[in-house]
Amino acid sequence: KVRTRFAPSPTGYLHLGGARTALFSWAFARHFGGTFVLRIEDTDLERSTPEAVQAIIEGMEWLGLQHDEGPFYQMKRMERYSAVLAEMLAAGSAYHCYSSPEEVEAMREKQRAIGEKPRYDGTWRPEAGKTLPSIPADRKPVIRFKNPLDGEVTWDDVVKGQITIANREMDDLVIARPDGTPTYNFCVAVDDWDMQITHVIRGDDHVNNTPRQINILQALGATLPKYGHVPMILGADGEKLSKRHGAVSVMDYPAQGYLPEAMLNYLSRLGWSHGDDEVFSMEQMCSWFNLDHLSKSPAQFNPEKLAWLNNHYIKLADNSRLAGLVKPAMPDAQFDGAPPLDAVIGLLKERANTTVELANSAMLFYRQPQPDAALLVQHLTDAVRPALQSFVEQCATVAWNKADLSALMKSTLAAHGLKMPQLAMPLRLLVTGQLQTPSIDAVLELFGRDVVVSRILQGI
Ligand code: GLU
Repeated sequence: KVRTRFAPSPTGYLHLGGARTALFSWAFARHFGGTFVLRIEDTDLERSTPEAVQAIIEGMEWLGLQHDEGPFYQMKRMERYSAVLAEMLAAGSAYHCYSSPEEVEAMREKQRAIGEKPRYDGTWRPEAGKTLPSIPADRKPVIRFKNPLDGEVTWDDVVKGQITIANREMDDLVIARPDGTPTYNFCVAVDDWDMQITHVIRGDDHVNNTPRQINILQALGATLPKYGHVPMILGADGEKLSKRHGAVSVMDYPAQGYLPEAMLNYLSRLGWSHGDDEVFSMEQMCSWFNLDHLSKSPAQFNPEKLAWLNNHYIKLADNSRLAGLVKPAMPDAQFDGAPPLDAVIGLLKERANTTVELANSAMLFYRQPQPDAALLVQHLTDAVRPALQSFVEQCATVAWNKADLSALMKSTLAAHGLKMPQLAMPLRLLVTGQLQTPSIDAVLELFGRDVVVSRILQGI
């Protein structure tokens, strides 16, 4: 049974890279009818905050990446870690190390000086027939993992292929500090074991941790999960994605008018592919997603493509759902006596890349027109006034729909020997206050007869 996890450290917002690995882990679990676990890695007390936990959970909720188990908090599992540490000490796979930080630093200096990779020299590492130094008074020990000295660690990374690291490249890792608190790699290994994780999908900034975690898991007698390290996300300039490239926090996107389905669709294509498909639902993704089509090379973040997908999903979305998103972005709108927002959205959404753009363009219908005086002089000429006069008179009787309004405009033009812009522009100015609007017949239809007639009359 497949079990995956997302294990963020709550030190900031949920960033795009984190959301993408969460999405991959979630989709993989869904694909196999497995379980997706959320685990909060909050042991870094200095950098972890409850606000960050909240921000991560909110981001996951907005995206709809529902976890099946958790959230588990590492800080609530301290007793379990202590128990495992005690077992490892008893079994001889870990040992107390009384070397002081100064001594460890001195060892490293010495190794650097002779061009060796700095590492713990094993002073306190117990070996058969070896006598350990006497324990210094008043010194609290760290616990070190007794890493194998020979051989190598090999795993078949589901993204990167086979990776092999020699054990002699690895130190005897500190797994508990002098105050007894466990350290990062140890907690991850114990958690993945306890939570019976079958597939660890994470960013490739963790590749170096994997052999350490594998050795710990092996010492614990655990079945190893499969590992897949996803390459990072780069900005358009090829640098690691950062604030310079725009919003990197997932929760900046709803505020900027993005729909979660657009973000999910976009993230899913960052490092994963299904043929040439660019647009698909999460149901499709879950049914297609496997680890075979994860890319080995870094993905590039492309805001234009995200905007394009957002436009696609805005066009598909229910007008009433969009209205709920758009309304809070229209604090100055006067909705009384104005056309219904759903209908306005139906007219405008074709061209909107974000719901914020939609809100801005919808404002056209919800404020008093204040046409620029110079523009009025330019467009409301003596040649045009009689045409507007006859148009507004016939507005009283025409059937109020787009087609009939369009026919009325055409007959008015013909009767007065005018061209379309000569009538459409002043109509736009008088009714909406601006020259750029969607198709004028549709705009007039939405405003309704009373508003249109009174604004034209007022203008001329
Ligand atoms: N807590 C780690 C992070 O936020 C992830 C650890 C893991 O996935 O193993 O980067």
